[in-house]
Amino acid sequence: MSTIVFQKGKCLNCDTPISTGILCSTCTPPAPTKTVLLREVMISEMQEGDSGFTEEYAVFEADSQLFLIGSARIAPQSEGYKTTRVRLRKGRFEVDSQTIDRDDIWLGWPNMGEETKFFVAKLV
Ligand SMILES: [Zn+2]
Repeated sequence: MSTIVFQKGKCLNCDTPISTGILCSTCTPPAPTKTVLLREVMISEMQEGDSGFTEEYAVFEADSQLFLIGSARIAPQSEGYKTTRVRLRKGRFEVDSQTIDRDDIWLGWPNMGEETKFFVAKLV
């Protein structure tokens, strides 16, 4: 019968020498790097690190700049027409260029209410 003994300075899982903690970097499970949306929110409600899917029409180009419509809904998973992936990273909205056809990006300012917020975005 063997007893598992934790020896300080060695990984609990593979015996690799370590200076802190109980597991080496290989055995440590990766920390979550982004928050996952649990429900549908508006683009304007997204928090740093959030990513989700919205309709193509939420993305438009005006004055040589890409924008997102703040009131567009963003879902945690791709569903229906929500196939364009958007992420808020370092305070900036990114649109996954793999999930939108450049030709489908609306050109010009959309005709929307005064209260609509628009956010600068970048194709990545
Ligand atoms: Zn290890």
